[in-house]
Amino acid sequence: MPLREYSCGPGTAGCAYCRLGFELLETLAATPPAVCPRCGAPVVRRLSAPAVPPPRGMFLDRAKRAGFHQLKRVDRGTYEKQF
Ligand SMILES: [Zn+2]
Repeated sequence: MPLREYSCGPGTAGCAYCRLGFELLETLAATPPAVCPRCGAPVVRRLSAPAVPPPRGMFLDRAKRAGFHQLKRVDRGTYEKQF
């Protein structure tokens, strides 16, 4: 379920809750709220950056540069150094 951000529309006073913006966890089929659930002021959806994790290779490169090693298990109690 996506987490969507809303805040009161431009030119509306809103309340402390919707002025700063609030997040709602919604199903994809849910209809977005038209008004603030606390004060009833009209709200608009705010665009937010999607939470995408960096690729695994990026973590390994950083670990390598920081001096860490990666070991791969080849047998019980036996590990092979990857880098
Ligand atoms: Zn409000």
